[in-house]
Amino acid sequence: MNTDKTTTKTLQTLPKILTTGRLYINGQWQDATGERTTDVINPATGQSLATVAAGTVEDIDLAVQAAQQAFEDGRWSGLSGRQRSRILNQVSQIMREREDELALAESLDVGKPITLAHAVDVATAADQYEYTAAIAQQLDGSVRETPLAAHAYTRREPLGVVAAITPFNFPLILSSTKIATALAAGNTVVHKPAADTPLSALLMAEILTEAGVPDGVYNVVTGPGSSLGDHLVRHSGIHKVAFTGSTEVGAHVASLAGLNLRPVTAELGGNAANIVFADADVDKAIETIISAFVFNAGQFCMGGPRLLVERPVYDTILEILSQAVPNVPFGDPTNPETVVGPLASQKQFDKVSQHVEAARAAGGRMVCGGEPLDLDGGFYYKPTVIADLPPDAAAIQEEIFGPVLTVQPFDTEHQAIELANGTEYGLAAGLQTTSISRAHRVSAALEAGIVWVNGWAQLDPAMPFGGVKNSGWGREYGPEALESYTRTKSVIISIDQEQS
Ligand code: NAD
Repeated sequence: MNTDKTTTKTLQTLPKILTTGRLYINGQWQDATGERTTDVINPATGQSLATVAAGTVEDIDLAVQAAQQAFEDGRWSGLSGRQRSRILNQVSQIMREREDELALAESLDVGKPITLAHAVDVATAADQYEYTAAIAQQLDGSVRETPLAAHAYTRREPLGVVAAITPFNFPLILSSTKIATALAAGNTVVHKPAADTPLSALLMAEILTEAGVPDGVYNVVTGPGSSLGDHLVRHSGIHKVAFTGSTEVGAHVASLAGLNLRPVTAELGGNAANIVFADADVDKAIETIISAFVFNAGQFCMGGPRLLVERPVYDTILEILSQAVPNVPFGDPTNPETVVGPLASQKQFDKVSQHVEAARAAGGRMVCGGEPLDLDGGFYYKPTVIADLPPDAAAIQEEIFGPVLTVQPFDTEHQAIELANGTEYGLAAGLQTTSISRAHRVSAALEAGIVWVNGWAQLDPAMPFGGVKNSGWGREYGPEALESYTRTKSVIISIDQEQS
């Protein structure tokens, strides 16, 4: 395998905009103030992949100013929902036409297997624009019956400028959930993508403009996370913060936004339990278990890194995993056969390595994996299964965010629920069972924003998604999301009771 050769070839097919090192503000590609740039690293080789602008707080100010102006003059908020809907549908269509570029950018930037970048990342993001285009037409207020001598009704209005801050692991999907919804409601956006994986945001700037989104409505500032993000969140010109990222940074962002009394939606860390009952279809369960922890090299907030197995099938499941996991196609993400690619950055690689070493030191038994793979200088870590850890081990309690599965046995349904709910997180959970009553009972008892039964990670733009506990608040997807990008105004018009 020669990843360098593949990368050189594929890079030539990427649009120029990814190599010019510019920001997109007010409909213009421009240098960062100070003209600094920064390299984006290809996680499959550890080498530079592209150069992007290292934006500054002055650039954030310019972007917010542009977005404010675009909001206030009504070039977007003044359009009808139906007009916005047509443009958002056009965005979706262009995304599908430019699928190859988007998928390649996402694959090279994040180390995602190219086949999944097509089938999951681009497809889901394009669906999101399409779905949101449909609900953009339903932003209705309602007439209220009151005893007042008045005609009383509500209006749904956009908020203003939305700050969209997105993480490194699903750049395209997670920015689309925010941007499509913000735009559908008539808001304007300043987007700060993750410093490590900014490429698809730049492509989306081109696509949104091509589709007819007016200048200043979508602005993207690439660069260092904490300084830009902090400044953006504190900015008085921002009316809402839509954040996805770690629980730690999310709490910090929410506290900053609180100083200006700005609403925040916070989609934060996850550490989901996947519960396998002895009555489950074991073959189906194995497929689900593996895909839930290796998908996106485990850098998946909704992944299933904690496996809980009912005692009678515990040894069988461990035995099957020890054989099956090392056979999952692993390596160069640009190879269409690959299922697991590298971790997205040196930082993630170090974090995963440290967690696995700590688990080993805490008495964890390596059922398979437990070490990196030395390949092309990339950040590869072998899919790893660890048994025999105590429930309070860091590898069980904390979010590792890598291809690592811990496995714990349980004896009763009650114990399974206690173990599943026994971390600070509550984003997702799942159970594998053939009992319909148990499916309902356990789903209701799990502390999570979404629960899958006999499957994993099915998402749809129509189904709300978000966390409980330290996994955040607010919902993306569905009409619930659109609600959070608007405010309700009550209008009461007095009716003169005397006839003239
Ligand atoms: P992160 O919290 O480090 O960064 C997220 C974003 O915040 C990035 O754009 C980053 O540059 C920015 N940022 C960093 N410091 C900031 C600051 N001081 N002020 C404002 N912004 C700042 O997260 P990450 O490492 O990019 O992503 C992984 C995390 O995201 C994991 O915890 C994962 O579970 C979570 N995640 C959650 C969801 C969800 O839907 N709940 C989805 C994907 C990822």
